[in-house]
Amino acid sequence: QNNRTLLIAGNWKMNNDVQAAATLADELVAALDGVDNGVEVLVCPPTIDLTTVAAKLDGSAIKLGAQNVYWEAAGAYTGESSCDMLKSAGCTYCIIGHSERRDYFHETDEDQNKKAKALVAAGLVPVFCCGEPLEVREAGTYVEHVVAQVKAGLEGLEIADPAQLVVAYEPIWAIGTGMTATADDAQEVCAAVREALADLFGAELASGIRVLYGGSAKPGNIAELTAKPDVDGALVGGASLKAADFSQMVVKS
Ligand code: PEP
Repeated sequence: QNNRTLLIAGNWKMNNDVQAAATLADELVAALDGVDNGVEVLVCPPTIDLTTVAAKLDGSAIKLGAQNVYWEAAGAYTGESSCDMLKSAGCTYCIIGHSERRDYFHETDEDQNKKAKALVAAGLVPVFCCGEPLEVREAGTYVEHVVAQVKAGLEGLEIADPAQLVVAYEPIWAIGTGMTATADDAQEVCAAVREALADLFGAELASGIRVLYGGSAKPGNIAELTAKPDVDGALVGGASLKAADFSQMVVKS
C-alpha cells in the first residue's frame, strides 16, 4: 500500500538490570532468528544496558536505540549522555519526547526540538513521541494537540531522507493501561501527524516518514493497527519485555 518499512520498536523503560537485559536480548535474537517478513525491529533498553545489549544483537538484524539523550556534545551535565556516546554504544535510534519524560521530568517541546536537531546532526534517528492526555481526548481537541506538539518539537529540523525521522503517536490514556486506541483512532491521528509532517518537510518526505502507534499494543491487536494505511508499526512498552510477545508482534505485523 506504500513504500514504508514497518517498524516494531520496544521501549523497555526502566526495566531489566544488565543481566536481565542480556537474557532478554538473547531470547529476542533466538525468537526472531529466521523471521524475515520485512519488518524492521528496534529495541530501546535503559542506558546502562546499551553496550551489553549491543554485543548480544551483533550479527542480528535487530537495531538498538536509547530512551533519552542530551543535546550538548560533552561537559558538565551530570547524569546525561550525548549523541556521540549513544552512537559509540551501538545505537542508531533514540526515543525522545516520551510522555513519561514530559510529565515526570518536565521536558518541554523546546527540549525535544534541541534533542531532535542534535540527534539528526549526529546521524541518529529520533523516535519523536507525541500524544494527548485523557482530558484532551474527551474534549475532542486531540488532533490539534498532537499536531501542535509535532510542529513545536520538529520545527526547523532539517532532513534529506525520510529514514532520518520516526514519529510515534502515543495517546497517554492508552499507555500501560490496557486501553488501546481503536485502529481507526490510531489511523485518524497518524494521518494528521503525516499532514503536519508534510507542512514541515514537504509532502514527498512526509510520505516516507514512519508514523508509529503506541499504547497497549500487543500480539492480539498489532495486525489490525498495522493494517491501517498511516500506521507504520508500533512503539511497544509492556509487551516488549517478553521475547515471545514481542517477536509475535513482529511476525503478525
Ligand atoms: C510506551 O510507553 O511507549 C508504551 C506504548 O507502553 P505500553 O505498550 O506498555 O502501553
